[in-house]
Amino acid sequence: MNAITFHGVGDVRAQDVPEPRLVDPTDVVLRITTSAVCGSDLHQYHGRGGGALVQTGAIMGHEFMGTVEEAGPGVQGLARGDRVIVPFSVSCGRCEWCQRRLPSQCATTGRAVFGGRFGHVWGGGQAERIRVPFADHLCDKVPADMRDEDALFLGDILSTGYCCAENGGIRPGDTVAVFGAGPVGLLAMQSAQLFGPARVFAVDRVDYRLRLAEEFGAEPVSLDRGDPAAQLRAATGGRGPDVVLECVGHETPFTQAIQAVRPGGTVSSVGVYVEPSMGFPAREAFFKDLSLKMGICNARNYMGTLLPLVRLGKLAPARIVSHTLALKEAPRGYAIFDRKEDRAIKVMLKP
Ligand SMILES: [Zn+2]
Ligand SMILES: [Zn+2]
Repeated sequence: MNAITFHGVGDVRAQDVPEPRLVDPTDVVLRITTSAVCGSDLHQYHGRGGGALVQTGAIMGHEFMGTVEEAGPGVQGLARGDRVIVPFSVSCGRCEWCQRRLPSQCATTGRAVFGGRFGHVWGGGQAERIRVPFADHLCDKVPADMRDEDALFLGDILSTGYCCAENGGIRPGDTVAVFGAGPVGLLAMQSAQLFGPARVFAVDRVDYRLRLAEEFGAEPVSLDRGDPAAQLRAATGGRGPDVVLECVGHETPFTQAIQAVRPGGTVSSVGVYVEPSMGFPAREAFFKDLSLKMGICNARNYMGTLLPLVRLGKLAPARIVSHTLALKEAPRGYAIFDRKEDRAIKVMLKP
């Protein structure tokens, strides 16, 4: 089958690879109907994270959905032909952390992610087919009337954006600032609106992304106009936003988020940090009495909750899709997404 594989920094290729097969009785093999390039795929693409992230030749991608082609004898709730979504992280559903509703901390799989990150190699979803283990636990069926582009992002970026907003504890009337108007940030803005904020600000440098943020009800704050924390304080009568959602994952926006938030406010961070440590404005955070919530999204917990909101149009993740490419065009998809060329925001791939 055809798949997108990793060959070094900035080098992903469409390649012929062996077909995945059922290994454990609880596996299914999916025929993938749509996959996507995620912002965190770019960490691999750039070889960030000490080179331990992904092996040469590994199949990329952890955002995918598809149709069950084969189900192992231990699979009870799925049959050939079922259309399903799958979360980005591989979890067993049975270990202590899965039982505590922390599937992204799964002890059985060692916090594995489809697509070979964190040193555990599971085939990725930028392919024609994929083996999905623990299938009864991981797969959610998709209603027939739902398009792939509406369902796909439940497995990763929509759940991540929503979880960022939820962790911020937004209350009606609050002022919210979202750092990063990439795919996760834009979906965090859509999600934030569900909690009834009075104002939402979008902080980014890329103009076309800020324009889309405006369509989601956000007021743009351009990094080209100087310190965003100062701009946010100025726009809120000097007090700062009640809640800041950090959707970038670097030291600078994290620090600016802490500097921007009002005393007693909350900073919620879902950006993927690849550096093992970074500077933290501890004194400011302490004297501000702020709350900090950060971490990798347990997308498995959110897929079923958010699906009706997408189906009813209260969340509209497909609006961030800028490109739909054939799978073999993925190398170009990575390049334009990485360089923010051709107004790229979210690249979907069709095997
Ligand atoms: Zn992702
Ligand atoms: Zn587990």
